[in-house]
Amino acid sequence: MKIINPATEEVITEVAEDTEDTLKEKYKKLRAYQPTWSDIPLKERITCIERFTQLLDEEKDEIAKTLTLEVGKPLSQSYGEIKGAIAKTQFFIDNSEKYLADEWITTEGDTKEKISYEPYGVICNISAWNYPYLVGINIYIPALIGGNTVFYKPSEFATLTGMHIERLLKKAGVPQDAFHLAIGGPATGEVLLNLPLDGYFFTGSYKTGKYIAERVAGKLVPVGLELGGKDPLYVCDDVSDVKATAESVVEGVVYNNGQSCCAVERIYVHEKVYDKFVDAYVEELKTYQPGDPMEDGIKIGSLTRQPQIDFIEKQVNDAVEKGARLLLGGKPITGTGYYFEPTVLSNVDHSMSVMTEESFGPVVGIMKVSSDDEAVNLMNDTEYGLTAAVFSSDKERAEKLMRKLNSGSVYWNCCDRVSASLPWSGRGNSGLGSTLSHLGIRAFVQPKGYHLRG
Ligand code: NAD
Repeated sequence: MKIINPATEEVITEVAEDTEDTLKEKYKKLRAYQPTWSDIPLKERITCIERFTQLLDEEKDEIAKTLTLEVGKPLSQSYGEIKGAIAKTQFFIDNSEKYLADEWITTEGDTKEKISYEPYGVICNISAWNYPYLVGINIYIPALIGGNTVFYKPSEFATLTGMHIERLLKKAGVPQDAFHLAIGGPATGEVLLNLPLDGYFFTGSYKTGKYIAERVAGKLVPVGLELGGKDPLYVCDDVSDVKATAESVVEGVVYNNGQSCCAVERIYVHEKVYDKFVDAYVEELKTYQPGDPMEDGIKIGSLTRQPQIDFIEKQVNDAVEKGARLLLGGKPITGTGYYFEPTVLSNVDHSMSVMTEESFGPVVGIMKVSSDDEAVNLMNDTEYGLTAAVFSSDKERAEKLMRKLNSGSVYWNCCDRVSASLPWSGRGNSGLGSTLSHLGIRAFVQPKGYHLRG
């Protein structure tokens, strides 16, 4: 398999894909070793993960560079991702003992009762490329801590990062057969779906996630899906500083070139501040010039996948044909690398795919609304439900709105944010189940009820 640098279109290297035979062999090893791994005291499993976080920090220069080379995000954002990954992992290190400990329910009387948490067995994690450190960690770290062995399939667009992850876990003391990689694309994933794994945890698109859930449904094992979004943001008429709001919102739209599951993808603005906001947004966006992601000061690199350029251009053209105004950008950038101009559309509505289908690029539509009710109705007019944000200077007003928003996370005066302490979950086509927080520690273990007499 060729690994391409999306910023230069050069082949970085070639790696050998797994075959059905090598995958079956790895599966056997994961299965055979799992009881030994779960017998190792929890504290020792956590110690390996602590060492893993130290290694992420020690080797950050090399692994950040690899990440930028294969996905095209600015080097500063690769460093940011590794820093975020260390913080997330630390949450699991600090909290797993508490949430995996036996829970005594009845300690008096003839029959004592407790709940204990046991691993599922061999967990499958099929992952995405946009934040390969951050999204994988939600799954393989708590799964390993919980006593499962893990079959990890990095995205074919983040293979070298997947190989670093494996190398660092093993260097940290995670035994050879507690964690294996499945290297390759969809065909490799298909083999994993056929194997008798004990849980399927997926991060990626709605289309693939739905397909995987249907394919493995008959196995009756847990399935977790972290899927895409079309996340809305509403700017109320009472924001105290329109320019500062626009600056925050631009970052929420174009960070990682808009390739974030929780990127802001639709903006609704109260009519009283609409013109001012749109002007400020366009001015701010002009400061985001795409360039070589390895260079200092670059805020937008290349897109990761070539076909995405065509998809975004079609969305822009569809919107313009239906009456949208193109205020900035709108075209692929010619030359080498998968670059697209940061783009803003106004006069948009929900007949346009740019307001309904995940764009996953540096493009956004801004729509005028005349009331909070209209904003909420439009924000909820979607098949997705990952995150939604409200900008307002009035906390009560924002809370009233946030209660009505049908999404797994809501933000007040912030956006495009993930916290390890809070559950990460999508509604509707954005996913199933929850990772992170104490719910994400318990997502990879199964309860056993003990009835103890005597
Ligand atoms: P994708 O669905 O194209 O691929 C995801 C993974 O599935 C890859 O490893 C791929 O090889 C594998 N795959 C593809 N077809 C398969 C098949 N038939 N059987 C088994 N495996 C198969 O998604 P992507 O482009 O890697 O990721 C982008 C998407 O992920 C976006 O929609 C984004 O919003 C979403 N995402 C969601 C979250 C979240 O937390 N909710 C986080 C990151 C990304």
